[in-house]
Amino acid sequence: MFSSTFLPSNNEKTAQPQSATFHIQPHSKQKVAYFHHKDVGNFHFGLQHPMKPHRLTLTNDLVMSYELHERMTVYCPPKATDDELMEFHETDYIKFLKDVTPENSEDFVEDFSKFNISEDCPIFEGLYDFCQIYAGASIAAAHQLASDAADICINWSGGLHHAKRFEASGFCFVNDIVLAIQHLLRFVKNFNSNLLYIIDLFDLNNLVIERFYPRVLYIDIDIHHGDGVQEAFYATDRVMTVSFHKYDNGSFFPGTGNINEIGCGLGKFFCLNVPLKDGIDDETYFTLFKDVISDVRDHYQPSVIVLQCGADSLGKDRLGGFNISIKAHGECVRFVKSWHIPLLVLGGGGYRIHNVARCWTYETGILVDAELPPELPERTRFYNFFGPDFSLHPPLVRKIDNFNTKTELQKISQQVHELLRFLDGAPSVQMQELPGDLQCLLDESDEELRDAREDQTVDIRSRKRLMWHENEYFDGDSDNDKDDDQNMDADSN
Ligand SMILES: [Zn+2]
Repeated sequence: MFSSTFLPSNNEKTAQPQSATFHIQPHSKQKVAYFHHKDVGNFHFGLQHPMKPHRLTLTNDLVMSYELHERMTVYCPPKATDDELMEFHETDYIKFLKDVTPENSEDFVEDFSKFNISEDCPIFEGLYDFCQIYAGASIAAAHQLASDAADICINWSGGLHHAKRFEASGFCFVNDIVLAIQHLLRFVKNFNSNLLYIIDLFDLNNLVIERFYPRVLYIDIDIHHGDGVQEAFYATDRVMTVSFHKYDNGSFFPGTGNINEIGCGLGKFFCLNVPLKDGIDDETYFTLFKDVISDVRDHYQPSVIVLQCGADSLGKDRLGGFNISIKAHGECVRFVKSWHIPLLVLGGGGYRIHNVARCWTYETGILVDAELPPELPERTRFYNFFGPDFSLHPPLVRKIDNFNTKTELQKISQQVHELLRFLDGAPSVQMQELPGDLQCLLDESDEELRDAREDQTVDIRSRKRLMWHENEYFDGDSDNDKDDDQNMDADSN
């Protein structure tokens, strides 16, 4: 049932070299590669749809206007091939995405419910091209990390974390994150770790040599739960997924992300969820992020990190209800970058597109160690769109209640730390001496693990499909906040 069951576990890789944790030298300059396809901003989900690929053009223009391209290598990535997309997705689903168009969609109407085509995941002109472009960029970025050509790779068009193996979900059609992680893991059927290790050491054929990463840490700071990535790797210890998101007892899309979802089988304890409520502010968010993610790093010792930077967790987002600033969002990126572990940075949600562009430009600046002046460069093509403040840091924090109480946050933190202690006994992490009381818990955990192994294909979670306008701040067709569309009409031609 779980796609991750095909992944070899770490405990099968007996010859795994310990040098597989690839820390970049702390004082060396991190090489940054940036992936942007010139066409990615030219697709339209529909006038009223909150997902606007044009935000990627806005972001790229701002990044270039700040001259950040001079501090990194810029690539126009190739489109993902059908075969590459089918490394995760079902053949029937990819064939459907490739064949369906707005003109012939009536011929495919019977497949719509099967593949979850709906108001939030509509058929639009160039849909398959769009998927190939954003997924191709994430795959190319993963290759770049694996071949050691870069220490940090950026693809703001990626991060579409809701797509499932055989269906669309939450504006996402193909899951570029899962595809990229698969490449980082260097999944090969009949996996032979000895052989890969030799290839890693010696350039036998003068080909580009790629390393594989034994432990991938996936961090998701989008306001929505990273359900598609969690589901794909729920039963493996080679990928640890950690998601910070709004959780409202199942009513906020996608309905999953409870703290009790911890992975299963060999993946038990390699999945962590940090459920939050509306109104979380800068200090509370970053304090919790730092507290949790430092402990994850210490226990899991990732060899590479994939960071999904969904910008719908910013204050004043059209769909989200958090209350955090671009600076606080960026602090999460800065903190992860400071570890000097190979890093793939991706976009995600974000529905105030001018703020999305500001946020991802600011974060590009952080990743290339550039201090950006707060006044936006006047030479940017869409300058008028950023008024009236024309600032990189407009006020996004509102005077609203923070529904996350101190007691609740302390409880979450405590639960997370308790869960992470189980990782010390997990196969992917070197065993350590443990205090006696914790050893009792681990013994109990081993028993549970054995039970879980016998029953690996059971999906213990319930999945809910909710329309994007339920319990969110965007009110579908009746939403009267159409400034993005109006400004777009005025600015793009
Ligand atoms: Zn989101």
